[in-house]
Amino acid sequence: MAKAPEPHGPIEPGQTDHFRGLLQRRGVNDLACPACGQNTWGGFVNAAINITDAPGSNRGVGTIRTLAAVCAQCGYVAMFDREVLDG
Ligand SMILES: [Zn+2]
Repeated sequence: MAKAPEPHGPIEPGQTDHFRGLLQRRGVNDLACPACGQNTWGGFVNAAINITDAPGSNRGVGTIRTLAAVCAQCGYVAMFDREVLDG
């Protein structure tokens, strides 16, 4: 049985095609970096955005699980909501 992805951290090599497939299913076929215009993504990582109750607060009220891709050209980070991708 395949190991479930960790909520944070790198995507295992075999999962890259799986996540590309999830993006393509949502109509994301040729993703150009919005910052530099290149299509040189360095790979995917599991990441999370912690939601707090107010700016500057440490009181967490939720988490958005994301699939993040880092542009290998300029470092821009694109994030996709895993709930949408996995739905
Ligand atoms: Zn870029």
